[in-house]
Amino acid sequence: MLPPYSIILAPNPSIMTGPGTNTIVLGSAETGSTIIDPGDDDPSHLDAIVQAGQEHGGISRILITHGHSDHIGGAAALRERLGVPILAFNRLGVPIADKEIADGTTFSVGDDTLRAVHTPGHRFDHLCYLLEKRRILFAGDVIAGVGTVVIIPPEGDMLEYLNTLTRLQGMDIAEMVPAHGPNVTDPPAKLAEYIAHRLQREQQVLDALRALPHGATIPALVEHIYIDVDPRLHKPAAWSVEAHLLKLEREGRVKRVEQDGWELH
Ligand SMILES: [Zn+2]
Repeated sequence: MLPPYSIILAPNPSIMTGPGTNTIVLGSAETGSTIIDPGDDDPSHLDAIVQAGQEHGGISRILITHGHSDHIGGAAALRERLGVPILAFNRLGVPIADKEIADGTTFSVGDDTLRAVHTPGHRFDHLCYLLEKRRILFAGDVIAGVGTVVIIPPEGDMLEYLNTLTRLQGMDIAEMVPAHGPNVTDPPAKLAEYIAHRLQREQQVLDALRALPHGATIPALVEHIYIDVDPRLHKPAAWSVEAHLLKLEREGRVKRVEQDGWELH
């Protein structure tokens, strides 16, 4: 019997993508097939997607989780080849999209329904897709099967990211399929771990602001918090600290001072 979905690994491994992007193929002969995140335009990757798409009823649409290049990389080439539309949350995030899909939009895939769930935070245009009957969430970059999720302001937003994680906690999800790395078989535990990790980091930012002289800059905070970290990772660490500061600023808990400094409110 045909599995509810197939994963095709894109040939784009890197420090940011882990083993590469998981391209998802869903559907059946009755409904045609839906592709999520054709991550790379390498011809052999596109061939593999088309073949899996045929097994799942023939490709009728391309869905995008968000506009980062490792998620849309093969979308234009696949559309060119098959004449099928690209759908994404909005064209601000994915300029090549043919159609925008709102939160809650559903698609028939085989004997199940796929529902778009707006999940901003990693990026403003992020959608997860929930296979409703089977309770499988195609999680994009909200959860990482390997490594961590990077939040880069201003497209990424820590406050929205934490709200997204909390929203997913309120949904009954049996399994999560991230865009990078292996499946998550215990979603409640993973979501709780992610929230705890971010709140712990936030507390470290607050503690560092208390410990350092007034008007600490982001590089000073990074150096204080990430003591044992390879200096090559200081750039992602700086994005993370900035994302936390912007969240805390919106909550009225920290404020900016002159010369790129920050202090407790
Ligand atoms: Zn991403």
